[in-house]
Amino acid sequence: MKLAEALRQLALTYTRERTKPFSGSQFGNFVRHDLALLAKESIPYGFEDLTLKASVGAGNWASVPWLAFFDPLITTSAQEGIYVVFLINPDSQDIYLSLNQGTTAVYKEFRQVRGREVLRRRAQDMRERVFDISKRFPELEIDLGSEDDLPLGYEAGHCIGKKYTSEDILKADLSGDLSEIFSIYRRLINRGGSIPSDVMLEEAQTTDIIEARHYVLSRRIERSKKVREAVLSCKPSVCEGCGLNPLLDYSFQGRPQNIPLDVHHSSALFNLQEGESKRYRVPEDFMVLCPTCHRVIHSLGNNVDLKDLQNVIRFKHMREVGNFFDQ
Ligand SMILES: [Zn+2]
Ligand SMILES: [Zn+2]
Repeated sequence: MKLAEALRQLALTYTRERTKPFSGSQFGNFVRHDLALLAKESIPYGFEDLTLKASVGAGNWASVPWLAFFDPLITTSAQEGIYVVFLINPDSQDIYLSLNQGTTAVYKEFRQVRGREVLRRRAQDMRERVFDISKRFPELEIDLGSEDDLPLGYEAGHCIGKKYTSEDILKADLSGDLSEIFSIYRRLINRGGSIPSDVMLEEAQTTDIIEARHYVLSRRIERSKKVREAVLSCKPSVCEGCGLNPLLDYSFQGRPQNIPLDVHHSSALFNLQEGESKRYRVPEDFMVLCPTCHRVIHSLGNNVDLKDLQNVIRFKHMREVGNFFDQ
C-alpha cells in the first residue's frame, strides 16, 4: 500500500470507525503504526532528520485525525512549534497538506478565542516569509468541518497548503508535493520561523537580516537536545578553549548530558546556501566550550575560530603563577 492509499482509506472510513470503541481499535493501530510507517518510507531524500507521528486521538477519538512531520530543531510534538501535517475532514473526506502550528501551546497562553487570533496572525507572518517560494501551495483557508477547539485551531494556524479530494489524491504527485513543502518548511525555519524580524536583529545585535537569520538558526542548532547529545557523545568533556574539565575541576558527578559544558556551532553556517539541506555536521561543525568561553567566542563576532578564542584567554592559574614569582 502507498501513503496516498492509506490517507484515502483514513478519510473514507474515519466517520464509521469512530463509532466503535476507541481502546483496542484495530483501525487506530493501523493509523498509528501502518500509516506512520508508510509516511516514514515516503520521506524524500535529504529530509531524513524529520520525525513524524500519526494520531486518531489520545484516549478518545479526535474530531480530526492527523499525520504530522516535525523538524527536531523546532519541535517534536504537534502541540507546539511549526510543522507539516496532513489533516482530514471526515465529513467531506478531503485531505489537506498544511504547514501549520501547534495549537495547544498557544491556547494555554491566550485561551481559545484570542489564541485563534494569535495563530492567524502568526500564520500570516510566516506566509509572508515564504511568499516567494510557495506558489505550489495556494490554499489559504482549510475547512475541517468541525466546531471543536482543536480543529478550529488547526484552521487558524494554517499557513500554506494544498487540498486533495479522496478521488484525486491517488493521481496526485504526493511525493513531489511532500518534497516541496518540506523544503519550504526548512527554509522557513532557516529564515527565522515565526520570530519577528526586529526580535532576530536585536538578538543577533546586527542590522543585517541574513546575518540575524544565521545567528538565530545557529543558536537553535546549539540548543537542540539531539545535537548536544550527539556532539557530547563523540568529543571529550573538556572545554576546547580553556581546558576546563568539570569532572576534575568541579568534581562534577551528574549525568553526562547535564555536564556544565555547551556545544558551540562554529561558523560553517555563514557559508550555508539558502535552501541547502544539510545544516550541520556532527562533530565537525561543533566545539565543546565552557559557558564562559562560549559567551566570549560569540562576543568576538562571526567567523572566529578556536585560535582567536585562545588568543584572548589569559589563564587564571597563569596569573597565580605570576603572583607566586612576584612574591
Ligand atoms: Zn572554557
Ligand atoms: Zn555558540
